[in-house]
Amino acid sequence: MIFSEILIEQDALNSPRAARILDRLPNVPRRTIHRYDDVFGRVNRPYLHKRQDLRLFVAVKRGQTVKPAPLAYGLRGDKHFYFVQAFNCFYECEYCYLQGYFRSPDLVFFVNHEDIVEEMARATAASAGHGVWFHAGEFSDSLALSHLTEELASFWPFFSRQPRARLELRTKSANIRALLDQQPLDNVFVSMSLAPRDKILRYEHKTARYEQRLQALRELQKRGFKIALHFDPIIDAPAVEAEYGELLADLSRSVDLTKVSYLSLGVVRFTKQVYTQVKVNYPTSSILDGSLKVSFDGKVRYAKPHRLWLLRTIQRLAVEAGVPAQATYLCMEDSAADDAGVTTPRMPSED
Ligand code: SF4
Repeated sequence: MIFSEILIEQDALNSPRAARILDRLPNVPRRTIHRYDDVFGRVNRPYLHKRQDLRLFVAVKRGQTVKPAPLAYGLRGDKHFYFVQAFNCFYECEYCYLQGYFRSPDLVFFVNHEDIVEEMARATAASAGHGVWFHAGEFSDSLALSHLTEELASFWPFFSRQPRARLELRTKSANIRALLDQQPLDNVFVSMSLAPRDKILRYEHKTARYEQRLQALRELQKRGFKIALHFDPIIDAPAVEAEYGELLADLSRSVDLTKVSYLSLGVVRFTKQVYTQVKVNYPTSSILDGSLKVSFDGKVRYAKPHRLWLLRTIQRLAVEAGVPAQATYLCMEDSAADDAGVTTPRMPSED
C-alpha cells in the first residue's frame, strides 16, 4: 500500500465517504486528529519523503473550494474555475510544481464533495451567458486515486443536469475504473497529459506508462467519452521534432485525432521556488541541462524564439496528424505572448 498512515479529521469521522475510504485501506494504521491543518505542512517534510513515508489525511475543506482560474486559463471566451478536492499526488514528475508549493508531500482527500458541487452551482448561475469550466487536477492527479475518493460519482449528477458547466479531468493516469462506471457526458472532458515515450520514462516516475495512457484514451473514446490532450511540458531534446512525430503517429493509431476536443501545448517552465526545489530533489536531472535560463524575473525557461519554435513546430505536427487546428492552443507565460493571441499557463503558484 502506498500510505504509511491515515490521519482522519474529527469532522470527517461521520462521513460515509470517509468510512468507505478507510474500508478500502484496511491495513493502514490510522489515528484521529482535530484538524488536518494542525498537522499537514506544520513541519516541513521534504518532498522526496513521499517515496518511503507518505501519509494520507482525510479531511473537510473549509473556505472556498471553487476558485477563479488565472486570466486566459484554458480556452478563451469561457469562464474558468478550478476546484480543490485533494492536495498532492503520489506520482513523481521531476518538473512537478507541487514540490515547491506545499510544505509537505502528504496527500489530503477532502470528503465534503457536496460543498464543492454547491459552489460550482453558484459559479455557474453567476456566469449566465457563458460556458463555464471547472478544472480538476490543479493540486493532484484527477484520476490516479479516483477509485478511492468517489469524487467522479459525486460530481456526475451536477454535470449531467447542467450542460453549460464543463468538467476537465486532467491526468497522467490510466486508472479509468471509476470513470467507466459513469455514463459519458458531452460536457466532461478527460484530458491526458502526454509526452514522448522516453520523456515519460525519464521524468514522470510512477505515472501510467506511454502505452497505458494511449490504451486508456482508446478505451475512453471507444466508450463515447470526450478526450483532450496536453503536450505540456514540452522538454527540449535534439530529436524533439521526431519524438513528437512518433507520439502523434502512435496517437493516430490509437484514437481518432479529428475528434480530440482540444490540445494544449506548453514548454517546460519553472517559478524560481520550484526551480530551486528541482535542483535539490533531482540534481542530476537532464531537465536542468541545455538552454534553460533564469530570466530577469527569476523564472526559468527557454529563450523566447526557441519556445515559440518548439510550440509552433509541434502544433504543426499535431495538425498534420489530424488534430483540428482550431482545437489547439498554446500555453505561454508572458503578456507579450498573450497579446499575440496565445494563453498563459496553469501555474497555481502564480495565482
Ligand atoms: S501527475 Fe501532475 S501532480 Fe502528479 S507528480 Fe506529476 S505533475 Fe505533479
